[in-house]
Amino acid sequence: MKAAILTIGDELTCGYRLDTNSQAISQRLALLPIDVALHLSVSDEMAAIHTALHVARHVADVVIITGGLGPTEDDLTRQAVAAHFKLALEEDAEALTRIKERFAHRGREMTPQLLQSNRRQAQIPTGSEVIYNERGTAAGFYLPIQGKHIFATPGIPYEMMGMLETFILPHLRELLGESRSTRRAAVKVYGVPESQINEMIRPLLTRERNPLLGLLPHRGTITIEIVAAADSLAEAERLIERDLVTLRAILKHHVISEDERELPQVVADLLVERELTIATAEIGTGGLVAARLTEPEGCEHWFRDSDVPQISISDTLSIEAAAAASDEVSGEAAILAQVLAARQAAIADIGVGVGPIISSDNARRPHGAVYVTVNLQGQESHHRLSFNGDRNRVRQWAADAVLDLVRLQLLKERL
Ligand code: ATP
Repeated sequence: MKAAILTIGDELTCGYRLDTNSQAISQRLALLPIDVALHLSVSDEMAAIHTALHVARHVADVVIITGGLGPTEDDLTRQAVAAHFKLALEEDAEALTRIKERFAHRGREMTPQLLQSNRRQAQIPTGSEVIYNERGTAAGFYLPIQGKHIFATPGIPYEMMGMLETFILPHLRELLGESRSTRRAAVKVYGVPESQINEMIRPLLTRERNPLLGLLPHRGTITIEIVAAADSLAEAERLIERDLVTLRAILKHHVISEDERELPQVVADLLVERELTIATAEIGTGGLVAARLTEPEGCEHWFRDSDVPQISISDTLSIEAAAAASDEVSGEAAILAQVLAARQAAIADIGVGVGPIISSDNARRPHGAVYVTVNLQGQESHHRLSFNGDRNRVRQWAADAVLDLVRLQLLKERL
């Protein structure tokens, strides 16, 4: 079985938005496994959508369409799919009720004009099944026709993912004739580049294998997805457990979670478990570490203070400008991190100090270094982090890396 992904929207073809939906969907389909033969992005035009559908259904059995299901005039996906297959559009009463409820819930009045435009979002081509939208207003649909399987979801990635996980993937598993039981696990790894993980677990990554493994990177965190299929659930679980044991042995302390938790939640859970509090002072990351630490619910229990110090030097230091004094600059930045960590350790169990970003002015290969100190009840660890990319990329990656340093220090203390 082959799939084609069709993304619709002027914002994609004019270059305003990057089509991340195709990437996300392909990554999920690969684990079923279903081969994706085609990604196609087209503008909000009937003719373009028609041609794209023509191509897509000639190369694939499954066509997943995202975008253009909204309430405005330029959202044409419903009409285009219906016209392509010469079908009428009909309103789904339940979908309309849900849209009205959503408006009421948000305290928004449904004026006659709004009702008129929002009705469109409850329409589906005749013969389709509605895919209800638990995360937004526009309903999606599933149209089995002429031996093909057409799925349509809204373009908003969060809404698309909701429909993919709850409707499309289960449906495709059924179509694949999965009388077999499947089990999925996700191991999140931090601090090892994707290419290195590839090398470390290469024998586990072959396409013919069961369980099937896939790597999904997001900044420095790599999620290793494991999907096992077997005659019984117990057997699928046994296969997953066997791979989990292998991955733990290979990746050791780089494994941050096996239950979908990201770094902020992992650190928060360790802090709660140890009944410790934390305070940060960040020059280079300008509060990003604090922002991450306050993401998890209940942060008032562990988070004490965040400071973005005003210092006489800029938050970004150029090594080139200070070429002769680069050691001096680094030394100063390292001391600043240390002083800030010590200062914050006076008001919480853990003080985190982040120095300024020391960036290279090299336009072809920009990179930045950041000095970090973690002070856990007087036990200090000092680090120099270094990342490629512009200032914003360095800040984002550094904030995650600092969280991981806190995690590692907490684990070390526990041993
Ligand atoms: P809604 O009416 O709920 O907005 P829709 O189906 O009309 O749903 P679109 O208007 O096509 O969705 O897209 C909404 C937003 O979703 C876009 O502005 C864009 O930010 C994002 N988006 C759309 N398609 C993609 C895509 N393929 N990849 C990433 N983001 C996308």
